[in-house]
Amino acid sequence: MTRKHNFSAGPAVLPVSVIEELKAQLNDLHGSGIGLMEISHRSQTFDDIVRSAMARLRRVLGVPDDHQVLFLQGGASLQFAMIAQNILQGGSADYLDTGAWTAKSIKQAGHFGTARVPFSGKSDTYRQLPASGSWERDPSAVYTYYCTNNTIFGTQFAGAPVPDGRLVCDMSSDIASRSIDAAAHDVIFAGAQKNLGPSGVTVVILSPWAMARAATATQVPDMLSYGVHLGKGSLFNTPNTLGIFVLERVLAWIEDQGMDTVAARNRAKAQKIYDVLDSSDFWQPHAARDSRSDMNITWRLADSDLEPVMVQEGLAADISGIKGHRSVGGLRASTYNACPDASVDALVGFMGEFERTRG
Ligand code: PMP
Repeated sequence: MTRKHNFSAGPAVLPVSVIEELKAQLNDLHGSGIGLMEISHRSQTFDDIVRSAMARLRRVLGVPDDHQVLFLQGGASLQFAMIAQNILQGGSADYLDTGAWTAKSIKQAGHFGTARVPFSGKSDTYRQLPASGSWERDPSAVYTYYCTNNTIFGTQFAGAPVPDGRLVCDMSSDIASRSIDAAAHDVIFAGAQKNLGPSGVTVVILSPWAMARAATATQVPDMLSYGVHLGKGSLFNTPNTLGIFVLERVLAWIEDQGMDTVAARNRAKAQKIYDVLDSSDFWQPHAARDSRSDMNITWRLADSDLEPVMVQEGLAADISGIKGHRSVGGLRASTYNACPDASVDALVGFMGEFERTRG
């Protein structure tokens, strides 16, 4: 079996070494005589895995000791509502609308309070992120909400959009792809299925302020309550045991290389593709230059009739997952941590050949 060059936006390519480790544990987890999918989440063997995953995540992201890490289910999408129910609690927060996922979060926040939108990139097909200081903050906002990396449109914040105040952040598509200032954030959340593992595990990191505020929320069903999950160390109900195992192994793979090395490789991989996109008018990059993402690279072709042809011919060359999201069209290459240099080289070679024969 040959593995294709997988540029899927998520679930996405994982390190082959981790898949091999997973295979080895399916039948007999760490010599316990019980397989990974069959072992109790209350067993010591599994408890060790959860603790290790949490400790690794803390080290990789530089999470301060007084912040707590949760592994939940329901995807990043459930966090849109949980944040609003546990933290917004009827107040008003500033939401930067930089893509389809922030728009969804804004809608959910409306069920539990007011999502004020001081910036929206919608009219510009979310090409451009707001420059710092270009929008007005509400001084009484409970928090500022933003999404570091807009998976569909291919834009990525270089850093936090405001220098101070309470920050809530969706890091689903660039978590653990570069160093961050975790201490500056009150809530960080991310679905695992891009940089950290399979779908079905959601990472949530809460600051002391966020935990204290969540503790005052009333009428929150147990499964939706940060307080309940915190009180049970993420084991309030049966977690995604297999997903947490893989997450722990992926984090070990990142730690072995070092976050800075992984980040530099991500930068270099993305740049190779941007270099092609900038080389001629055949290519029409979607994201504004100063807003470009290192994780999801989006473009159209000057001749849009060639876009489906490119997707088809890519498949024939074992290049998979480059069809753009239906809301933007065009093409997209997702080059998360585990996307090998060889896959990016194959894509860049294919792009050059495609332009030569069709341009
Ligand atoms: N936020 C971002 C930035 C995403 O890319 C995605 C999924 N692609 C989501 C949220 C929603 O994640 P989930 O499917 O895990 O609910």
